[in-house]
Amino acid sequence: MNIPFLPLKSLNQPYTEEFKNIFEEFLESGYYILGKGVKDFEEEFANYCQAEYAIGVANGLDALELIFQSLNLPEKSEIIVPANTYYASIISVINSGLNPIFAEPQYHDFLIDPEDITKKITPKTKAILAVNLYGKMCDYNELLKICEDHHLYLIIDAAQSHGADYKGKKNISGAIATAYSFYPTKNLGALADAGAVVTDNFEVFEKISKLRNYGSNVRYNFELVGKNSRLSELQAKFLSLKLKNLDEEINTRRKIAGYYFKNIRNTNIILPPSNSINEDGWHLFVIKTKERERFTKYLTEAGIGFDIHYPKAPHHQIALEKYSKLNLLITEQIHREVVSLPLNSTLKEEEIAYIADKINKFMP
Ligand SMILES: *Cc1c(COP(=O)(O)O)cnc(C)c1O
Repeated sequence: MNIPFLPLKSLNQPYTEEFKNIFEEFLESGYYILGKGVKDFEEEFANYCQAEYAIGVANGLDALELIFQSLNLPEKSEIIVPANTYYASIISVINSGLNPIFAEPQYHDFLIDPEDITKKITPKTKAILAVNLYGKMCDYNELLKICEDHHLYLIIDAAQSHGADYKGKKNISGAIATAYSFYPTKNLGALADAGAVVTDNFEVFEKISKLRNYGSNVRYNFELVGKNSRLSELQAKFLSLKLKNLDEEINTRRKIAGYYFKNIRNTNIILPPSNSINEDGWHLFVIKTKERERFTKYLTEAGIGFDIHYPKAPHHQIALEKYSKLNLLITEQIHREVVSLPLNSTLKEEEIAYIADKINKFMP
C-alpha cells in the first residue's frame, strides 16, 4: 500500500465542479475585493463558531497580529505563550513589539500547562496566548480563572482547531479574540492563504475590521494606522462552500481516531489522550515514541505517510536564538518523540486497518 499523509488534491477533488462555478461567477461579477463573498463568509463563520463577529483577514499570522494590535498593549508587555506550538504563534507576539514568555506544555496532551503559566506571570504580563494544538482545546476553565485573577487577556490561536468543542461550545466567549487560519492543510482549508478573527467583543470587531483595510471602513477615511490584510473575495466564496462540509469532515476524523484508539496496541507507541475524542477537532493524530527514528523508517517501508509536528522547537530555531538557553525540557522531549499519522476523510477503511495493523507489528 501507499498511503499519503495528506493528499490535498484528493481532499479538494469533491468540490471541483462547484469551485469552477464559483470562479466563473466571481469573474463575471467584476467585483474582486471585500465584496459579498467576504461578508457572507464572515457571517457564516461567526454563526458556525457560535460567536458574534468574524473578520476575514489574509492569513492566520495576520489574524494573531491584528488581535495584538487592536489591544494597544504597552511595548514589551509580556505575553505567555506555549513553548510547544507552531513557530507562527511565537512570532505573532514578537512582530507585535511584545515579549513572548515560554510556558511548558503538559506531556500527556501537548497543551499549555496552567501551572507553569502561573509561575511565569509578572507585573508586565498582559495576556495569555493559548494554542489549540493538533485540534485539542486547552483547559479554558483553568485559563480563564488565571486571566481573571491576574487581569490578563486571553487570546486563542485556533489555526488548528476549527470545529472543536469545549463543553458544547465552539467559541470561548471569555477570550478577547480567537485567530483562525485557512491555510490549505488546515481542517477548513482555502486554495490560497486566508484567515479570520472571531470575537464577541464589539470594539475589537470594529477595530480589526478597520485595521485589516489600512485602518478604514469608510472609503478614503483612515482612522487607524492599519495594514492590508484583506481576505480574498474568491477564497471567501470557496470557504463558504467548504464550511458546509466541515462538520462532516471532522466527524469522519473522529471516527478514524476512534478506530486508532480501539485498534492500535503497541507498548512502544503512546497514543494521544482519548478522553475528548468527540470534542477534538482532530487536525492531527499525534503519537509519541522513544523510537522515532526506527518507527518512521518502518512506516516509510510500509508505505505509510507521516509527518512530524514539529521537528524543532521554536526556541531552537535560528531566528529565536536569544531564547535557546531556556529550560524547556517537556517541550524538547515532545519534539523528540512526536509522529503524526494519516487522518483525513480520503482514507479508506482498508487503509486505516492496514495502518493500525502495521503499527501493532512494529518492533524496534
Ligand atoms: C498554521 C498556523 C498558524 C499560521 O497560519 P497561516 O495562515 O499560515 O499564517 C498559526 N498558528 C498555528 C498553531 C498554526 O498551525
